[in-house]
Amino acid sequence: MIRTKKDYIESLKKQKLNVYYKGERVEDVTTHPALIPHINAAAMTYELALRPENEDLMTAASHLTGKKINRFTHIHQSVDDLLKKVLMLRLISHETGSCYQRCVGFDAMNTLYMTTYEIDAAHKTKYFSRFVEFLKMVQEENFMVVGGMTDPKGDRSKRPSEQSDPDLFVHIVEKREDGIVIRGAKAHMTGSVNSHYILIMPTQNMAKGDEAYAVAAAIPLNTPGITLIFGRQSNEERKLEEGIDAGNKEFGVVGGEALIIFDDVFVPWDRVFMCGEIDFSGLLVERFATLHRQNYGGCKGGVSDTIIGATALAAQYQGTANASHIKDKLIEMMHLTETVYAGSVACSAMGSKTKSGAFYPDPLLANCTKHNITRNIYEISRLAHDIAGGIMATLPFDQDLRSPETGKHVRKYLAGVEGVPVESRMKILRLIENMTGGTCLVESMHGAGPPQSQRVMYQRLGNLPQKIKWAKALARINE
Ligand SMILES: Cc1cc2nc3c(=O)[nH]c(=O)nc-3n(C[C@H](O)[C@H](O)[C@H](O)COP(=O)(O)OP(=O)(O)OC[C@H]3O[C@@H](n4cnc5c(N)ncnc54)[C@H](O)[C@@H]3O)c2cc1C
Repeated sequence: MIRTKKDYIESLKKQKLNVYYKGERVEDVTTHPALIPHINAAAMTYELALRPENEDLMTAASHLTGKKINRFTHIHQSVDDLLKKVLMLRLISHETGSCYQRCVGFDAMNTLYMTTYEIDAAHKTKYFSRFVEFLKMVQEENFMVVGGMTDPKGDRSKRPSEQSDPDLFVHIVEKREDGIVIRGAKAHMTGSVNSHYILIMPTQNMAKGDEAYAVAAAIPLNTPGITLIFGRQSNEERKLEEGIDAGNKEFGVVGGEALIIFDDVFVPWDRVFMCGEIDFSGLLVERFATLHRQNYGGCKGGVSDTIIGATALAAQYQGTANASHIKDKLIEMMHLTETVYAGSVACSAMGSKTKSGAFYPDPLLANCTKHNITRNIYEISRLAHDIAGGIMATLPFDQDLRSPETGKHVRKYLAGVEGVPVESRMKILRLIENMTGGTCLVESMHGAGPPQSQRVMYQRLGNLPQKIKWAKALARINE
């Protein structure tokens, strides 16, 4: 069983995934400097769970075995579990300042638990019991699981079965006596180069003709036929540097995403949890989206707390901290942060029990939370940039500070408030740059779905006819 960071790293070393970085095969992900920060961040989901003060938030009693398990492998048994998930995410974010990746698989497991139960009831299939066996193994070993929903999707105006290249959505190419063979790819897979399994799920509602694309399964990431291509991030080569410019060197930027290719990958039947049931694909997608959108006020709330702290410090270093507009902007950043956090807490508090017994957040409120993320995080970053000043964008290199020729100029002209070391000012500006730029922002926009996917949920769940009824009643309109 994986307990510590050391155990986790050992487990990653053993699996020998087929990972590529900048066109080259990575022999050992645990020693590759570009991947280490992401491994460090994910390792916090193990390490922090060992601290006695975090036990209540970061561990749970398995409803299957009664044993103490890491919460990232738990199936929510109550509203309290839903709330603890959000609190746990904010807590870990304070430690990492970046994504620790493990929530996606957590949400995929909860999704499949509740949905396979209902597929079985409708289709007399055996998916639920298979899934429970898989889940028990994940809980026992404390594995890290990738939540694999998003397909490359090719031409967005066409259905999976209408694409000129059928592989642009993951699909079943062969059904055998012992299992299925799948082909295609999953895009933007968070934490995948440092995970153990992937849970693939259909990426959208499937229609008649798309049966081969309605597939869910658990696959070890070292299965033959799987290739992972690590994605480029903004400023990612700074992780390879020593010194000030690395920003958040220990934990990096965002989650560490990869494109995963499935080139005729075999999956035995006991790991297949959906196979052609198009009538459940929409429900499955909606549930995963809701469970994942629930998270964002927790994780991004925690990351924003640190951005606010860094921005306040930059203002102190520069002598602007007492200006009333700076204080007000910091208050606005806190307001935006607590707004998204309140959303995550609210959708959890209003959660309810599904037929399987697992608890599920309120979908409309979870969508509201994620929709606010697509705006508030940009606004928080905008205010951080405003307060930090243009120097955040034009700061000299760490080497310029160290150089005998340029160091004296950098120290002289980057001085702020007397007594504050220039190194401290540069460090905090680089941290703000790291946490508020490029890839981080896009993650807030598209992670768990783009804004339009949340507006569709407002259209479906917002109950406009009822709102019109209330208005008519008050206005005494009787037609
Ligand atoms: C950092 C990061 C991490 C991620 N991690 C994961 C992960 O771990 N697991 C996972 O499954 N996914 C993950 N995702 C994927 C994420 O869910 C998708 O990026 C998101 O759903 C949007 O899909 P897309 O990127 O293909 O964009 P697109 O679908 O191309 O969307 C781009 C724009 O086109 C619009 N659009 C799309 N299709 C249509 C259409 N048919 N008609 C009209 N407009 C359309 C959208 O509304 C949007 O405005 C991650 C994404 C990011 C950025």
